[in-house]
Amino acid sequence: MPGSANETILILGGTREAAELARELVATHPGARIITSLAGRTREPAPLAGEVRTGGFGGVEGLADYIRANGVTRLIDATHPFARRISLNAVEAARRTGVALDIRTRKPWAREPGDDWIEVDTLEAARDAIPPRARVLLALGSQHIGLFASRADVHFVVRMIDPPEAAIDLPDHALVLGRPGDSAAVETMLLVAHSITHIVCRNSGGPAAYAKIEAARQLCLPVIMVARG
Ligand code: NAP
Repeated sequence: MPGSANETILILGGTREAAELARELVATHPGARIITSLAGRTREPAPLAGEVRTGGFGGVEGLADYIRANGVTRLIDATHPFARRISLNAVEAARRTGVALDIRTRKPWAREPGDDWIEVDTLEAARDAIPPRARVLLALGSQHIGLFASRADVHFVVRMIDPPEAAIDLPDHALVLGRPGDSAAVETMLLVAHSITHIVCRNSGGPAAYAKIEAARQLCLPVIMVARG
């Protein structure tokens, strides 16, 4: 449905779904301002439809100020499901400003027949659940990698979109640069090439990172899955 030209929609983004939403809203809301907000964690984010602003707002009050200053009429939370701080800030800023909040965070993946998941609540529990001398695909953000440094017995394969800014603090690891493969076949090649025995990841939901779960199912590999809090 076409929107009003007076609308200003702020999308809290940083996900593939947010990018798709921006494209859809720009196409369906001619004349409206469509702004995507990025935290600025990715050095070269993919181009986005509409306007883009980058960097933290400065907490709830900063976000509320931005909403007021830009006459935002609708706030859409399309952030990653593990990005909890910004989602809480969005709820509180919407309450303070009275702007409509639309929550579009993804549903978690559900276990399917053939999935061998070891479900844990924290990254620490994931680290402790890795069996001795395993070969692990660590499909986590770079900020979480250091937590696994105490597992000197484990070979880790670390996948990152951007090259790390500092040396990776893991005694035995290989670095794979790039985005997650978009098919189970691509992910299977990676898992087989590195003789992976386990995957450690968080239950992010959505299609973008699901191919590794399908590949693990086909290869009968256990996945140590960190649930959402
Ligand atoms: P977070 O812990 O919820 O947020 C920490 C702080 O970063 C927020 O308080 C806010 O700073 C700023 N921030 C986060 N998202 C922002 C956005 N879209 N626009 C402007 N500022 C934002 O978030 P996070 O886990 O660090 O994730 C940061 C971003 O990366 C999110 O946009 C998320 O969608 C994306 N992302 C996260 C993950 C993940 O695993 N967490 C994975 C893929 C993509 P101020 O308080 O100063 O406003």
